[in-house]
Parts: sequence; structure tokens; C-alpha cells
Amino acid sequence: MITIIFIFGLIIGSFLNVCIYRIPRGKSIVYPPSSCPACGARIKWYDNIPILSYIFLKGKCRNCKSKISPIYPTVEILAAVYTILVYLKFGLTVDFVFYLVFGYMLIVGSFIDFFHYIIPDRISIGLAVVGLAYGFLRHEFVHSLVGFVFGFGLLYLVAVLGKAIFKKEAMGGGDIKLLGALGAFIAIKGVLFTLFVASLLGSFVGIVLIALGKTSMSQRIPFGPYLSLSAILYVFVGYQIITKIYGV
Ligand SMILES: [Zn+2]
Repeated sequence: MITIIFIFGLIIGSFLNVCIYRIPRGKSIVYPPSSCPACGARIKWYDNIPILSYIFLKGKCRNCKSKISPIYPTVEILAAVYTILVYLKFGLTVDFVFYLVFGYMLIVGSFIDFFHYIIPDRISIGLAVVGLAYGFLRHEFVHSLVGFVFGFGLLYLVAVLGKAIFKKEAMGGGDIKLLGALGAFIAIKGVLFTLFVASLLGSFVGIVLIALGKTSMSQRIPFGPYLSLSAILYVFVGYQIITKIYGV
């Protein structure tokens, strides 16, 4: 069963790659079939097998020999591992389906944010809609809605205050919508955990990068990946930790 779940995750990961590449470029994610971004050659099905094709082709396009980004197999493995983790936690349930969509959309949003400094509405608003639908199905729609408003409002406040204090855009609109969407899934406690952990992780990585001379204080750091990772951490471990500490 784990093997089937793993292969399923790899195939989804392959599709997530298409989304990561095409959504920010305003292209359709279903048509046309994949082609090499360098030479435009149509990619044959046997060269489009997750992980294996990358290994057999030694990371190069069969036609033009230009390098295939290692991001592709990375996303595939990430999606596959995530799929297994969700399966182990939820089994084959409705939660399994919703948390798969949750993580897959966060993977796509994170990579787009990392490369383009935007989180498309299709991801953030889409995720909010899915989260609210999930809340409705679990008869926890009010929790879900309050989580959404809370997440959105909290980061909106941070953005307004940041702008007033630092006189520059401290928080992007995409991040605000994303935390709202996360709130629709993981409610108020989840939002607080996510913002706290994401800020810690973001600051830590930022300080390390500055210390290594890889970036400067003024450079933008995409916050979406940190919010996404922290929300996933909440689903798997944060919820239990908070419950244990506070007994609520
Ligand atoms: Zn090529």
C-alpha cells in the first residue's frame, strides 16, 4: 500500500511541477503537454516519468542537452513523502483527501513564492475555499470561518503596523491571504502557531543568510514557504504539542 501511495505522490508531484512553472506565467495547467523550456521540444511520455527519467537522462533534455532543473525531482519526492505522511496520519479518509490538497497547494504556492515573490490568488483563495468547504463537511464551519478571518486580520494588522513603522511594505498581500486560507483549515490556534514558528524560522534563516553574506537586510525574503512549512508542522506535531502544554 505504501508503494502505491508513494507512486501516486510522485505522479502528483510531476503535475505540481507543471503548476509551479505555468501558473506564474499565466499558462494553462492542462494544455499543451509538457515541453522543454529551453528548446521547446515536446517531452515524450517515457522521458516524463517522475524521478526515473531525470536519472536516466542525467538531468539533461534528450533533445538539446540543456540542464533540467533539480527542482523537478525535488518537488516529486517532496510530494511523495508528504503523501505518505498524510496517509500514515489519517488513513484513507476524507481528512486524507483534504490534507493532500492542502499540502499540494502549499508546495505549489511555496515554490512560486520562492521564485517569483508572489502567491497567486488561485492558490491562496483556492485554498481558503477548500478549507471552508472542509470545515463545513466536518460541521465546524464557524471555526473554519473564524480561523480564516483571524489569520487574514492578524497579518493585515502586521502589514499596516509594519508600513507605519518601517515606511515600506513589510508583508505582501499574498502572505495575508495565505494565512487567512491556512486559518480556514487549522483555526485560531493553528494560525498563532504558524505565524510564531514561521517568524522564528524566517528570522533564523534570514540571519544565517546575512551572516554568510548571501543576502542583505533590505532584500525581500519570501514568507510563503515559512508559513506553509509551519502550517504543515502544526498539522503533524504542533497540534499535539499545544494540546499537551495547555491541555486545550
Ligand atoms: Zn531541450
